Amino acid sequence: MNTFHHKLNIILIFITLFSSSINSFSLPHFFPNISSIPPSLLPNNTAGTWDAFHKLSGCHSGQHVPDIAKLKNYFHYFGYIRNTTSNFTDEFDTTLESAVKTYQQNFNLNATGELDESTMNQILKPRCGVADIVNGATTMNSGKPSPSSTIHNTVAHYSFFPNRPRWPARRRNLTYGFDPRNQLSDDVKRVFANAFNRWSEWTPLTFTEGKNYFRSDLKIGFYAGDHGDGEEFDGVLGTLAHAFAPPRGLLHLDSDENWIVNDLIGSRSGSGAVTAMDLESVAVHEIGHLLGLGHSSVEDAIMFPTISSGERKVELDRDDVEGIQELYGTNPDNNGTMGPSFGEREMSRGYCDSVLLVKRMVLIVGLMLLAS
Ligand SMILES: [Zn+2]
Ligand SMILES: [Zn+2]
Repeated sequence: MNTFHHKLNIILIFITLFSSSINSFSLPHFFPNISSIPPSLLPNNTAGTWDAFHKLSGCHSGQHVPDIAKLKNYFHYFGYIRNTTSNFTDEFDTTLESAVKTYQQNFNLNATGELDESTMNQILKPRCGVADIVNGATTMNSGKPSPSSTIHNTVAHYSFFPNRPRWPARRRNLTYGFDPRNQLSDDVKRVFANAFNRWSEWTPLTFTEGKNYFRSDLKIGFYAGDHGDGEEFDGVLGTLAHAFAPPRGLLHLDSDENWIVNDLIGSRSGSGAVTAMDLESVAVHEIGHLLGLGHSSVEDAIMFPTISSGERKVELDRDDVEGIQELYGTNPDNNGTMGPSFGEREMSRGYCDSVLLVKRMVLIVGLMLLAS
């Protein structure tokens, strides 16, 4: 009897411990599309992490304004202020001014050093938590040899992490796994499978879902706030996700965001009417980091650091493809060539559009003949 009670106690303790660890773990929220998000989660009811920065619009060097310290923390987090102590003052000093200038260069804005409207709009956009400047080295615009004004689209803007870490040649077939505590549905897992395909299409890399999360090369999980890697998440909007350079293989997403899973239409420019992020768009970006890419100043590139609420951006840009192929080479299934060229892609899109137009015209003429 005693042994039975002893065993029962052990089982009860185990169940309590296990369930408390589940309870402290918030499950991410997913929505099939924008219209399925309940009104209580729409922007009027949701305060974004960086909303307090709105009132700093128009500020410039020499001013003393509350919340400037918070903005300095922002620039410190993304690598623009190297100060290791984070006891910042509310004075708009020369350190902040130079951080703002570097930021403006990286985001193709006029490098005035002032918090003008376009700079503020860019700062407020939800973004990736990975820094733009790592260990003082930036490979976005401000780190390029020529001034940003002369950089044309044909110049590479893609970047790598310091020392160019990448997966070694013997590891071309990578496995990925999902943190079992997230209890992700097949729909959500499929979004990641699609996101991985966007990169394998252009490289010799392959990605398959591993049976064991802990043994997978790439580990994906949704977490809220502080989750043990020193890079805490910040609630709705603000930073959305982050991922670590090879060979760490960690991809973390903020479970406090409203994630859109199946809205294939989306909007290229995003919508201010919703507070929801397209999951595949963010996943494609973070996979770029898992493979060794840093941020790019090319706005159309997947590796551009910000994305708007409701925006869907999943196709690799030429800049992303050139960057990833510099690390891994081309996809051998494409006969060692660059894969389908962007010119061909664009032409085939144009061709499809004209075929569709002809089909519609034939249909209309047919209907008119029938009616007459
Ligand atoms: Zn990023
Ligand atoms: Zn993390």
